[in-house]
Amino acid sequence: MDYLEICRVYGRLERTTKGLEKAEILASFLGEIRDEPELIYLLQGRLFADYDNRELGVSHQLVIRAIGRAAGISDVEVVKKFKKFGDLGKVAEAVLGEEKKQMALFSKKLSVEKVMENLRKLPTMEGAGAVEQKVGHIVELLHSASPEEAKYIVRTVLSDLKIGVGSGILRDAIVVHCFKPKDLEDKKVCVQAVQEAYDKATDFAEVFEMACSDSLEKIKLEPGKPVRVMLFPKAKDVDDAFRIVGRPAAFEYKYDGFRVMINKEGPQLDSQGHQTGQGGKIKIFTRRLEEVTKQFPEIVEYVRDYVKGASFILDAEAVGFGAETKKYTDFQAISQRIRRKYDIGKLRDELPIELVVFDVIYYDGESLIEKPFRERRKLIERIVSEEEWKIILAKQIVTEDAEEVEKFYEAALADNQEGLMGKNLNAPYKPGARIGHAVKLKPVDRDFDLVITGAEWGTGKRAGWLTSFDISCRNSSVVGGRWSVVGDLGNEDELLQIGKVSTGLKELRDEGLSFAEMTDMLEKLVVDVDGKHVKVKPEIVVSVQYQNVQKSPTYSSGFALRFPRILRLRADRGVDDVATLDEVAEEASS
Ligand code: AMP
Repeated sequence: MDYLEICRVYGRLERTTKGLEKAEILASFLGEIRDEPELIYLLQGRLFADYDNRELGVSHQLVIRAIGRAAGISDVEVVKKFKKFGDLGKVAEAVLGEEKKQMALFSKKLSVEKVMENLRKLPTMEGAGAVEQKVGHIVELLHSASPEEAKYIVRTVLSDLKIGVGSGILRDAIVVHCFKPKDLEDKKVCVQAVQEAYDKATDFAEVFEMACSDSLEKIKLEPGKPVRVMLFPKAKDVDDAFRIVGRPAAFEYKYDGFRVMINKEGPQLDSQGHQTGQGGKIKIFTRRLEEVTKQFPEIVEYVRDYVKGASFILDAEAVGFGAETKKYTDFQAISQRIRRKYDIGKLRDELPIELVVFDVIYYDGESLIEKPFRERRKLIERIVSEEEWKIILAKQIVTEDAEEVEKFYEAALADNQEGLMGKNLNAPYKPGARIGHAVKLKPVDRDFDLVITGAEWGTGKRAGWLTSFDISCRNSSVVGGRWSVVGDLGNEDELLQIGKVSTGLKELRDEGLSFAEMTDMLEKLVVDVDGKHVKVKPEIVVSVQYQNVQKSPTYSSGFALRFPRILRLRADRGVDDVATLDEVAEEASS
């Protein structure tokens, strides 16, 4: 297929802001790629499935160099244009347009396959000479691209297509294309089915292919491939918890660490069922599907030594504790372990963690998500040999007595934990869903996890740092306790600003999360520049404390936080995990 064809679709998507229209445009294009479902990744601005952690590793600087070289101009000139346009895609379009006019260059047609092939090689390039090789591959594509194609190649390389398509719209397009729902009710059912398939597969190519042949049920959990974790709504108090999860219920400590899904791969089999590989590999994923196995060698050891079974997927919390004090610490204390890729041995000694297992969703070749929680808990009791400060099961009581729960709640708080989880003993596991199969009980907290969508450079003594941050929530109108359907009820892929925050960060790096550290992270994500203000890719999630929520016409969410303050960076969370507009609206009315 000509790359130009897909660029035309990008163009149409870019020109409309309406979710429903976008889903329609995509739905009709999906017909063109039924035989090559992996091309769906390009519609996401990606080259691999969502579960695949390979990164292109191309910075803005590198793209600037590639554009300059392809157009035969200096990097300085490219940067000048970048300041003017605020988007390197547009810069490439403009400068290559000029160049091609002058040289009357007729390039040969660029195919989608060639674009995929060249860009998919980028993650494999490492070590000496890698930078030049990467630039060379991008330049080669830009040389044979039309100006419009160049724009989207650059944006794909920078993983920001600017076409306003997220997983919700893509899912809805698959629904429209494959199932042609006859009314809204029918659409909701199909959306649910496709979403459930996606939450297991975390791969739109696979979901698309299976949906086309009406065999979504064939999508199975597979250890080694991350799934989306089940999420939990809040309960107001113990009675409310019982009301939602039923009586009797299980109550567990809500540990203040970060979520890890631990996968042990089974032996590899060929299509005839003959064993071809050993298996037994242990992989650790965060809830944003990021693989962190290297960062946590001790988790791999504990799981290998203390958990029985040939293959499994465990849901667990990694919790920090003081090496000397043997007291639990909060998430913040160990958060740097998620991102740090060096000095791992040292960090492991300084910031030890205990693995707290609270669920299992796959065991020895069998998916357990349909099994009731009480059975899944029994299984982890059988397969995990507990060893204090290494691996334990979540502390649990099963009761119908509110007073007993209150006492347990106090004990959890006294043990430096966040509160309790109340769990329905008969409920299945629903990957990706935030439904009341379990609820969280925490003392009143006034904070939201929000994503940073923009920032502003500071002045005076704070010049050189980004010091004010635009914070956004997710738009979502929840259908049946779960997802929205684009266009009909609101677009959940959209991010809506809820304010700006400039307090909470430190001026000195060693005092905690600092302006300098935040600036380092955000600078890599800049997608648009407008004077002192930059727009950034929505990847950095922070917990923001506030005094209350007010209605406000100033921000696109229609709400504003009063006295917002950044409490901490949530390196384990992604844009899918941030607060929704519904949650914000509920706070505003309470
Ligand atoms: P929150 O982060 O406030 O939405 O609370 C949900 C998180 O609590 C989960 O994603 C887990 O990371 C964490 N958690 C801690 N202890 C447990 C537990 N016993 N069961 C389930 N989740 C837990």
